[in-house]
Amino acid sequence: MKIVRFESSDGKIALGAVDSLDDPAARIIEGKFPDEFSVTAKTAAIKELLAPVIPPNILALGLNYRKHADETGVRYPEVPVMFLKATSSLIGPGRPIILPAAGPDQVDFEGELAVVMGKAARSVPPDRAIEFVLGYTCANDVSARDWLIDRQKKQWARGKSFDTFCPVGPCIVTKDELMDPDHLRLRTVVSGEVLQDSTTADMIFSVAAVVSDLSRSMTLLPGTLILTGTPEGVGFTRKPPRYLREGDSVSVIIEGIGELFNPVTRE
Ligand code: ZN
Repeated sequence: MKIVRFESSDGKIALGAVDSLDDPAARIIEGKFPDEFSVTAKTAAIKELLAPVIPPNILALGLNYRKHADETGVRYPEVPVMFLKATSSLIGPGRPIILPAAGPDQVDFEGELAVVMGKAARSVPPDRAIEFVLGYTCANDVSARDWLIDRQKKQWARGKSFDTFCPVGPCIVTKDELMDPDHLRLRTVVSGEVLQDSTTADMIFSVAAVVSDLSRSMTLLPGTLILTGTPEGVGFTRKPPRYLREGDSVSVIIEGIGELFNPVTRE
């Protein structure tokens, strides 16, 4: 099942299920999403897709891909390296990533597989972790490198939490349709140029390992988004660096999920 959150043609915001992202209407979801809900026979026309979930927390991993750790020149982490991304940075598909007028100047893209938690998880073992997952979506962990690396070192949470720096979507594909999240092709296309082309098989920690490990330090509430890290090819590692500019567009395309497209504008 593909789950979308959308504005309907009569101006209401709803959750629905679709068979394909080309469907003009969705079957309305009712109940307490995402842990107890049902898909009804009622339909509503989709006017605009929104971020498919409003997460209570956005957790993200640094350095979870071998080749990205290699290009960054750091050792592979022994445990998942987590940071928080502000929920206020969330935007949906099609919405602009806005470069702040006063900087940062080194705004980078990071295409990522995002896990959407379905049920509250606390200290779950790896072999049961997926039971608590609802499904998966695409994310772009937009990052101000000048806040992460050069000017103000290690301000990860701040550099990754500017408004609009967390595009997510276009839909949640439920786990029954995506049985193997650890073997998905992932591409990021910036203004028509493929800059990341990898597979989640390069992840150091699998989805189950990440969910299990993070659940040891905090309850993963229903709806929590976990951005599982980015593969190699991000802008700051390129020579010369390729940062996002006004007029760019970014697509994160993940096998079995779809394409998350966002234009880039300047404030
Ligand atoms: Zn990232």
